[in-house]
Amino acid sequence: MSSLLDDAAKQLEKALGYITISDDARERLTMPKSSLVVRIPVRMDDGTLKVFKGYRVRYDDTRGPTKGGVRFHPNVTLDEVQSLAFWMTFKCAALDLPFGGGKGGVQVDPKKLSRMELERLSRGYVNAIADLIGPEVDIPAPDVYTNAMIMGWMMDQYSIIKRSFQPGVVTGKPLSMGGSLGREEATSRGAFVTLQTLLPKMGFKDPASIRVAIQGFGNAGSILAGFLYAAGYKVVAVSDSVGGIYAPEGLDIPSVRQAKEETRALKAIYCQGSVCHIKEHATISNADLLELDVDVLIPAALEGQITAANAERIRARVLFEVANGPTDYEGDQILEKRGIQVVPDILVNAGGVTVSYFEWVQNRSGLYWSEAEVNNRLDERMAREAHCIWEIAQEKGICLRTAAYLHALGRISTAMNAQGAKEYFLGTAR
Ligand code: NAD
Repeated sequence: MSSLLDDAAKQLEKALGYITISDDARERLTMPKSSLVVRIPVRMDDGTLKVFKGYRVRYDDTRGPTKGGVRFHPNVTLDEVQSLAFWMTFKCAALDLPFGGGKGGVQVDPKKLSRMELERLSRGYVNAIADLIGPEVDIPAPDVYTNAMIMGWMMDQYSIIKRSFQPGVVTGKPLSMGGSLGREEATSRGAFVTLQTLLPKMGFKDPASIRVAIQGFGNAGSILAGFLYAAGYKVVAVSDSVGGIYAPEGLDIPSVRQAKEETRALKAIYCQGSVCHIKEHATISNADLLELDVDVLIPAALEGQITAANAERIRARVLFEVANGPTDYEGDQILEKRGIQVVPDILVNAGGVTVSYFEWVQNRSGLYWSEAEVNNRLDERMAREAHCIWEIAQEKGICLRTAAYLHALGRISTAMNAQGAKEYFLGTAR
């Protein structure tokens, strides 16, 4: 068992200490419902044939079709995909989306493929898993190193196999192929709403006095930085895989985003009229960024960033986990003991799958919503579920991660019991 899946099991075990669920539900949650391992033959541009290994896992589908992204990465393993499918099960239940959890992946370095090879691989992956997916069965979406274009190819390939238009089989598609307005910013917007809902409850009132550091300036991190900046928060440090920049007085995030787009580097371009100059900020390593004396730390890059090795040195007062699994189990225990609040990934980054749900609903109804409609529904749901999780944590005196698991577990086990549990079959239930 990988450490990731181990961590997932420990998180579940901890939550089970605070809730009684039926033995049946407990038994069903210990293993994925199905795990498919496939080989995908792809004709390369030079005429050779390469065979790639791929996975699709459906962890649990009691509450609806399974839902989860597809990752193209050289280090993808079955254990990792199973853990991510487990997290998706709880994330969907925590947000009350009518989905179970799934995940997929292909062992490949997509940067080494040409566009046409990437298309053939994406279509080949769908050919290999077509019997396991479908709008009412399992619905893939983008994840690490997959994007809207790849989702478009996958939807098209599934439609070819089914000989009918099937937009609801994949979410995160291009707008022109049935994608939803608001999907691109959804994860960051959901994280921002969670933060706006919970920070005042933790005693943080004035954004101008709240110092934030963000690890990871990609899709999720950079858009969230923009929301925070616009709302008056002081974003003092951001980083990417090369390193970070730090300005105690606060960074001008629109300028940093512009420079990153234009130069691929973390700098800030300041313009007056048509005259622009690049401002170099103090640099900071990723390790040091995590240990900055800030109010809010936002890991938005990779798994396993806060562990027993550095958790004692974290000085932030609150962590909002935008990345999946940035804090491992040991790191989490240390932060909890030290009184540092951790708002968990299954809540904070759930805006993406929530708008994926909206995309699926729009595809199935054929009626498309305005961006304001999408955003309003997202804001309302994120704030409502964040509030519920906060209340559970207060009432039971537990951390927010365990509260989020409890919240989700209640919904999953109720659905499982509705199918008939041991008590029903042995006649001990009334
Ligand atoms: P991305 O690839 O766009 O961005 C990742 C960022 O992390 C990049 O800026 C990269 O340079 C940086 N990075 C890579 N290695 C790093 C390192 N060692 N130290 C610091 N930074 C490093 O990915 P993304 O879509 O923004 O996703 C980021 C995280 O959020 C992932 O864990 C992902 O699973 C999670 N997430 C994203 C979404 C979404 O909709 N984008 C939804 C849910 C969860």
